[in-house]
Amino acid sequence: MALRNIAIIAHVDHGKTTLVDQLFRQSGTYRENQQITERAMDSNALERERGITILAKVTSVEWQGDRINIVDTPGHADFGGEVERILSMVDGVVLLCDAAEGPLPQTKFVLTKALKRGIKPIVVINKIDRPDAEIDNTLNSVFDLFVALDATPEQLDFPILYAVGREGWAGLSPDEERINTPENPGLAPLFNKIIEYVPEPHAVDKDAPFKLLVTMLERDPYLGRVVTGRIESGVVKTNQAVHCLDYEGNKIDAGRVTKILAFRGLERVPLETAEAGDIVCIAGLEKATVANTICDLSVSEPCEAQPIDPPIISMTFRVNDSPMAGREGTKVTSRMIRDRLFREAESNVALKVEDGNTMDSFKVSGRGELQLGVLIENMRREGFELGISRPEVILSKDENGNVMEPTEEVVIDVDQDYTNIVMQKMTERKAELRESAPSGGGKQRLSFIAPSRGLIGYYSEFLTDTRGTGLMNRLFHGWTPFKGKLAGRRNGVLISTAPGPVTAYALFNLEERGKILVEPNIETYAGMIIGEHNRENDLEVNVQKAKQLTNFRAAGKDDAIKLTPIPNISLEYAMTYINDDELVEVTPKSIRLRKTFLDPNERKKNERSSASA
Ligand code: GDP
Repeated sequence: MALRNIAIIAHVDHGKTTLVDQLFRQSGTYRENQQITERAMDSNALERERGITILAKVTSVEWQGDRINIVDTPGHADFGGEVERILSMVDGVVLLCDAAEGPLPQTKFVLTKALKRGIKPIVVINKIDRPDAEIDNTLNSVFDLFVALDATPEQLDFPILYAVGREGWAGLSPDEERINTPENPGLAPLFNKIIEYVPEPHAVDKDAPFKLLVTMLERDPYLGRVVTGRIESGVVKTNQAVHCLDYEGNKIDAGRVTKILAFRGLERVPLETAEAGDIVCIAGLEKATVANTICDLSVSEPCEAQPIDPPIISMTFRVNDSPMAGREGTKVTSRMIRDRLFREAESNVALKVEDGNTMDSFKVSGRGELQLGVLIENMRREGFELGISRPEVILSKDENGNVMEPTEEVVIDVDQDYTNIVMQKMTERKAELRESAPSGGGKQRLSFIAPSRGLIGYYSEFLTDTRGTGLMNRLFHGWTPFKGKLAGRRNGVLISTAPGPVTAYALFNLEERGKILVEPNIETYAGMIIGEHNRENDLEVNVQKAKQLTNFRAAGKDDAIKLTPIPNISLEYAMTYINDDELVEVTPKSIRLRKTFLDPNERKKNERSSASA
């Protein structure tokens, strides 16, 4: 039985999940009665909703007695180290590319890493059934991309398959008849190509002592900490004594292997022993983490590994202490929040959780607003209430003590009409334009290097500016000397002075003062933000005011008031809208904006003390 380890590289929406589903069906991995509707790779509901895959997972299919482990590369791999580690497990990649869209930036990033490792990709041009498919163009751009990324002549000589993943079909020519029956599985050419073209697992020495590089981490309610990785050498047995080394060779843990699990389809099956080359999960060590080596006690040299990338953005999560706390959520105590956050950090190496300055606050650091936004959204759905601070970029220092800030590569595709506004907004954010070229269909592709700090909150603005038609991709780029103050972000806010429901009458009268951000009739409290002031300073306003009923005819007029529609306030928008002295109140049902200090006197005191600091 042969074994192949591969990764599938694809831009979001190019059909990876659909294709893997079909590989499962045709390999007989699904049991007859198993629900096939469940999509194989991105199982987290929220990820699916947003069309992103965050968790890298391993699945495995069998083809005519041979086994193929498929490792999912994260679509939003903001950081290089993670991709490196994941690719260190595989010997081949399938580059899946939408025939109408061509290769896009995320693919480029992971592909660069794969080519540098010397991996020879198989190219699959997918969705050739699309009426707007441009097969030749797509193939040419893939070829150009390989050239631009310094592919070797061998890598440039990639095998090509054409596919309609949704029909479970792939062929060596786009014109073949698309047959897919139980007797003639449509993906047979792809299965065969993988077995034939991808080499056997590299550097496999079954006789050397056992060594495994940890690439993923999770927490299992029964097994405790479970790590996943490729066995680099030797054989591991259950109950074997092992220890764990960090990437510099320091011993950080020791214990016994209590469980070995291998991937079989979507499930994991326990094994007594596993051999070099295979990708397995191991339980038994409580401190082992990503980038560590788990190995036989005789080994003192760890596997080569990139250290875990540092987080670049942090936010404070606090207990919700607004007057409305506890009305909509069930999980509100500091204890519950703390447990939840630390549990999350245990299975997510990209996340760091620390106790905050007060008993009721926690500092949560991660790789971007998107990642933290997903966590908050998940917590809301579980019944949590939180007070959230504005995300801040984490700064670092170089060897000479200069303050450095993180930068990202931002690739934007927009209709040519919108290039000016995008250029202007990106320049305001201290982004540097690297490239600008037409990208087909009247669109322009703009590529920038921008400080992460400037990008916080830009995405929702970008969508508005481009009427929802723009595409933006961000990737961590590196560190740059601190670029100085960014231009002011927004005006002051309108703050409610008292509790109670907002009247339409009051809002109507306030419209000339600024932009209203709340609907009439909602409950407010003193210190809650109800709109944006037209000027720089904050303004306290009475929003509970009702129209004086001077006579009969005026009554009921309140209903006739026409208010300007308010913008939809999403979590991401709210998070990046607020200033440092403000919070977002998040509950399962509502997102409210508020001043951190609800009492105006305390607010003034705090302003004065921070001004003199
Ligand atoms: P992923 O984000 O890469 O996992 O992409 P999905 O597998 O979720 O597919 C994205 C979209 O493309 C879905 O709406 C699919 O129905 C559609 N799709 C997938 N494969 C094909 C195909 O072969 N042809 C066409 N026309 N659409 C496809």
